[in-house]
Amino acid sequence: MKRLMYPFLALAVGAALIAGAVVVGAGGAGAAGAPALAPADTVYTNGVVYTADAAHTLAQAVAVKDGRIVYVGDDAGAAAYVGAGTTSVDLGGKLMLPGFIDSHMHASYAVGELYDVSLFGLPTLKAYQKALAKFAAAHADLTIVRGMGWSNTVAPRHGFTKQQLDAVIKLRPAAITSEDGHSVWCNSAALKLAGITAKTPDPTGGVIERVLGTKVPSGTLRDAAADLIVNRLPDYTVDQYVNGLSHFDRDIAAPFGITTVFEPMLIPGSETGILGHNKCAAFEQLAQLPADQGGLTVRFRAALKLDPHWGPIDQQLQAAVVERALHSTDLFQTNAVKLFVDGVVEGHTAVLDLPYLTVPRTTGTPIWPYKDLQTASVDAAEAGFQLHYHAIGDAATSMALNAIAAAEAATPGEAALRPAITHLQLVTPTDYVRMAQLNVTAVPQPYWFVKDDYYYGLQLPYLGKWRADHEYPMKSFFDNGVLVASGSDYPVTYPPDPLDAIQTGVMRWFNVWPEWAKEGDVLWPAERVTVQQMIDSFTINGAIQNGVQAETGSLEVGKSADLIVLSRNILTCPVKKIGDAKVLQTIFRGVTIYDPAAEHALVNKLKEGIHSLQIAIQSWAVDNGDKFPLASIVTADGLKVYFPDSDTPWPDNPWTGAPMKPGMERGDYTYTQLSGGAHYRLAGHISATQDFVVP
Ligand SMILES: [Zn+2]
Repeated sequence: MKRLMYPFLALAVGAALIAGAVVVGAGGAGAAGAPALAPADTVYTNGVVYTADAAHTLAQAVAVKDGRIVYVGDDAGAAAYVGAGTTSVDLGGKLMLPGFIDSHMHASYAVGELYDVSLFGLPTLKAYQKALAKFAAAHADLTIVRGMGWSNTVAPRHGFTKQQLDAVIKLRPAAITSEDGHSVWCNSAALKLAGITAKTPDPTGGVIERVLGTKVPSGTLRDAAADLIVNRLPDYTVDQYVNGLSHFDRDIAAPFGITTVFEPMLIPGSETGILGHNKCAAFEQLAQLPADQGGLTVRFRAALKLDPHWGPIDQQLQAAVVERALHSTDLFQTNAVKLFVDGVVEGHTAVLDLPYLTVPRTTGTPIWPYKDLQTASVDAAEAGFQLHYHAIGDAATSMALNAIAAAEAATPGEAALRPAITHLQLVTPTDYVRMAQLNVTAVPQPYWFVKDDYYYGLQLPYLGKWRADHEYPMKSFFDNGVLVASGSDYPVTYPPDPLDAIQTGVMRWFNVWPEWAKEGDVLWPAERVTVQQMIDSFTINGAIQNGVQAETGSLEVGKSADLIVLSRNILTCPVKKIGDAKVLQTIFRGVTIYDPAAEHALVNKLKEGIHSLQIAIQSWAVDNGDKFPLASIVTADGLKVYFPDSDTPWPDNPWTGAPMKPGMERGDYTYTQLSGGAHYRLAGHISATQDFVVP
């Protein structure tokens, strides 16, 4: 259930944080003389504007004032909003859409990209071991090595062994999560830290993989069993999460035009001590900062996780209620709870109506005993929380619907927050109707609608051909009147580019994996949907799902100016080309937060002259008051520091001669630089660095 398309996405450093709009054509008074209305801050004209309103209106122009849309219509009408101070942007016939909404995306996991070893995209066990050894050697200070990204397709059936990890990291515990987040590969020291021995039984909803024919743990832990080690790991600090979220906003969300995100798995209560308990504080800290001082440039709605292993449900809900009350800005709210009904097909932990073919008589174990799932659902609904369920297997989806029916019966008339089920790999056809009746939103990941290595290597053998060929429904949801709000499940999907998902949702194969997805080898062709349905699932439907439809999701007067401009009209171009379209501008609350022209120029320059880079994630205080991006680039020789900035374009004004030495990449630094006669002093802290190789 995951794919990787462009492994070098992370090169998109925050080169153009708050770049100005691309102004084409001079601003000026409208054709009819003085503006009849209060002038707008920015007027976009000569575009194809897909508004995603109820009538699916197309327009030419949008006017924005104080971060809000004040006009949508034709170019002639927009002229009335142009005054002396108005920036006029000629869209040159380009397509403008509402900012994308990703309705299931683990933004807070971006912290791992900064501080942990990443195995995403590596092809073999050998490559994993090499990356692990290199990371371990470079981070001798870490007492525990953690990471993410190994694929179940490289270690099918029983996962990797502890010996395979001991071979490269022996003395320190090492716990490496799979790319889907459901399994953890442990070395011997990690199993010891978790207290897992041959005597440890499989916890409910979890599997401890064993050496064949024995009870000895072999090294891979699935779902609830993985928590045995995960909960022994230290949490990241609030500062580390802040850096991770800043990285997410600037380098992941903005380049893909994502302006609103549902973050599905936060931890209630900073005193719970459960891994991840510092996340909410980091979100709130950034929600309180203005965007130009490093605050959020994405609107977040989030769920707090409930877990059957975390003690009495009423205590968990109490903590959730306390946490929810702390977050009330438009930028960050925690109004939902997340409940896992099952695991994943790859771990034999998805709950199925009929057994797996690979493990006779096994249909998977639910994470919650059904009665407890129902109690948690009813209690959470009564406490006013939105319900968000993870369900992969057909039996799991039915269980979620039963629990939702009970919760809705207990709270009649409280339909403001719609319950959601995400993933939905196998769905019993009668459940489409129940979803519509119960007002349940489907939150699928259209990135996965392909016959890839997961299909051929795992789903086909585990599920058999009929089930594998009828997985990931989509059109059936629309046809049955179910609201569909798409998500990526980042970091499970990486990179989380909605344009790839829109193409895949329409085609149900994707041309970037020729070795797997042969042309015509379509996954369940009857479930293909239209481009417009896909766009709506990433815009207005996501807004409705997240209760922010009055604020965003469509381009209508009064809503927040969350806009994106695309390089290609995906409504009319060949479907095969949709994924190649690029976001040209991302505008959030009226501010241009992403300008790819500047960024591409930067990346191209880097590709010319440098073959290995180190990207440092930093926070800086600048004593002359100038604004600088939060990210800078350190070359491999460690001698140069560049601050790409829209006012002083790299590399014309590089900051050179900084006291950066190899091996000194973390810590506090002060730089002094005479530049253009002005004296600048920067005091900063580098909290993490990561190596990237430029292809
Ligand atoms: Zn998820």
